Amino acid sequence: MFKRSNNKLISIFLLSFLFGLFINNIIQNSIFFMPKEYKLIKNIVNKIASKNELGNQKILFSINNGSYMTWNTKSLDLCKGEECWYFNNLNPYKNHKSINGININNLSNQAYLYGGIEGYAWNGIVWISKSTFRSFGENNDLLACLIGHEISHIIFDDHIKESQILSSKMKDAGISDNYKSSKEEKESEEKKLLKMEISRRVESQADNNSTKLLINSGFPKEICLKYLTYITKFEKLDTKTNPNSTHPGYLERYSSLEKFIENYQVKNELKVDKSSKWRWEFNRDLNILTFIPLNKF
Ligand SMILES: [Zn+2]
Repeated sequence: MFKRSNNKLISIFLLSFLFGLFINNIIQNSIFFMPKEYKLIKNIVNKIASKNELGNQKILFSINNGSYMTWNTKSLDLCKGEECWYFNNLNPYKNHKSINGININNLSNQAYLYGGIEGYAWNGIVWISKSTFRSFGENNDLLACLIGHEISHIIFDDHIKESQILSSKMKDAGISDNYKSSKEEKESEEKKLLKMEISRRVESQADNNSTKLLINSGFPKEICLKYLTYITKFEKLDTKTNPNSTHPGYLERYSSLEKFIENYQVKNELKVDKSSKWRWEFNRDLNILTFIPLNKF
């Protein structure tokens, strides 16, 4: 009798434990319990996707510590060179063990406080530093412009475009890809400058595409111009274009976008498929929020 009730108790305990794990997993990965920064991304992308076709590939978003963390960990001798990338990409929502007596959680908090505006698109993932959200304050429209810009890099395959233009331009200019002799070293410098020139063009196109996505979804027409001014002041960016830079200087970038806005006609461009559908998935462990389009093309 005693044994049977004991077994019963063990089964009840095991079942509640498993049920607890199951519920915990649901809550952990629920989009309702995501950090507020992820909720903000989701709201902005929902607004953009409601009036624009964002393609049929998944778009992933991840919030990291940002490059302030790289600088800080390097100056504390926690890492060298490329190794510091690890700290840049460290999940800021997780607790981390101290390294060499240095509290990594404190460093992460400092990166949030002292870091700036940073976003980039790489391998189908939009990376945004947590400090970016603090740096924009309540200006969610400006954040929308950054998100629109990075999404554009992914949905318009900017990287492929860039490398195609580069190889055809190199062929036209007779620039070779070998760097062995001193003559070819000069050519590698030419290639670098050409690469930067193409990158600047693609960056301006991403500004135009971001503006297009945002105007279509009802954001103010000038929002990305305001964004450019805001990030230039905040990050103390160059106003003049530097031939070695991946992005045009503020003045060139601003006037190019201004021209685009003058000529942009929403009525002609807006082609929204009303049946556009998507869903979201959040993975707390991987620190990733995924936009999943459900339309088949
Ligand atoms: Zn860009």
